[in-house]
Amino acid sequence: ARKYVLTKHFQGEPKKSDFEIVQEELPELKDGEILTEAEYLSVDPYMRAYMIGYKLPTVMIGGQVAKITASRNDKYPVGGYVAGYFGWRTHTICNPNIPAKGALVPMYLLPDISPYPVSLALGVLGMPGNTAYFGLQEICKPKAGETIAITGAAGAVGSHVGQIGKILGCRVIGFAGSDAKCEYLEKELGFDRAFNYKTVNIQKALREGAPDRIDCYFDNVGGEISSAIMNYMNKNGRVAVCGSVSSYNDSALPKVTIVQPSIVFKELKVEGFLVNRWIDRWNDGINANLAWLREGKLKYEEKVYHGFDNMVEALVGMLRGENLGKAVVKVK
Ligand code: NDP
Repeated sequence: ARKYVLTKHFQGEPKKSDFEIVQEELPELKDGEILTEAEYLSVDPYMRAYMIGYKLPTVMIGGQVAKITASRNDKYPVGGYVAGYFGWRTHTICNPNIPAKGALVPMYLLPDISPYPVSLALGVLGMPGNTAYFGLQEICKPKAGETIAITGAAGAVGSHVGQIGKILGCRVIGFAGSDAKCEYLEKELGFDRAFNYKTVNIQKALREGAPDRIDCYFDNVGGEISSAIMNYMNKNGRVAVCGSVSSYNDSALPKVTIVQPSIVFKELKVEGFLVNRWIDRWNDGINANLAWLREGKLKYEEKVYHGFDNMVEALVGMLRGENLGKAVVKVK
C-alpha cells in the first residue's frame, strides 16, 4: 500500500516536494473491517484551502472510489464499491460501522449507477453533484424566469449548477477561463451566455448577458468578479457562497471592490454553506441527479489524469483550470 504524506505546508501552488510517498504494510483484517483498493482518487479545490489548518506531517486528505478486495463485514461484500474520505492512499482498511474522524461525508456503498462509470461518484453523482443540487436550490431558491450567474462555470460544480438552472426554467450566464470552455457551456450545456473572464470586460459582459440583471449568484471563485456580479444584482437577490478558488493559491488577500452597500440597499441574501449540511438527504441528491442523467437532461465531462504518482500534477492542473467538468485520477 502507498500513501501521500504532506510534510510541508503549501506555499503558492502545491509542489511534489511538499509530499512524501510512503510505502506501508497493512495488518490482517479484524472482525467488521474491510480492505479497499482505490480505483479513482478525487482532486478538489478544498484540498488546497483546508490543509492550511492541519498539523504536519499528515496523510493528504481526499475522497476516492474504491473496490472492496477483502471483507470481514457481511454488509460490505468483496467486489462492491465504496465512496470514502480515505485520503491519498492506494489501499485502506476501515470498519464501516465506526465513522472516520474528520471525514467530510461518511463512507458509503455506491448505489447502482449503471450504465455510468463508478468515477461519477466523485463528481456529478457525488459531493460536487450534491453541492450543485442542494446549494443552488436550497440557498438561491431560483424561480423560473429569473437570471442566475455562475463563476467557475465549466468546473464540476459550476457546470452542474447551470444545467439545473436551465431545468428550472431560468436564464443562465456563466464565467469560465477559456473560449473553448465557454463554447462548451453554450453549445453543449445550454447556458444562455458564457464569458471568458480572462479576456472580457466584466461590466460589459454582465450588461450583455443579463439584460434583466441577476437574481441568483452561485459564487465558486470569490475575488473581484464576485464583487462586480453582486453590485449588478436585483433587489432581494440571493448569493450562494460556495467557494473562493481564485485566492486558494495566494497568501495575500486580494483587493476587491466593497459589496456591503449593495447587500444593504438591495437587501441581498448572502449565505455560505458546506455541502455536508444536507448529509441526511445525501441519497436524494444522488438519485435526483442520476434521474436527470438517465433522462438526458444533465451532461457531464471528466478530466481524467492517470497514475497514483501523478496526484500532485492533477491537483495543480485542476487549480490551473486544465479541467472541463470534474478532475479525477485513475489510480492504475
Ligand atoms: P472545478 O472543477 O471548478 O475546478 C476548479 C476551477 O477553478 C478550475 O477549473 C478553474 O477554471 C477555476 N479557477 C482556478 N483559478 C481561478 C481564478 N483565479 N479565478 C477564477 N477561477 C479559477 O472545482 P469544483 O467544481 O470542485 O469546485 C468549485 C468551487 O466550489 C471551489 O471554490 C470549491 O472550493 C467549491 N466547493 C465547495 C463546496 C462546499 O461544500 N461549499 C463543495 C465542493 C466544492 P477556469 O478555467 O474557469 O479558471
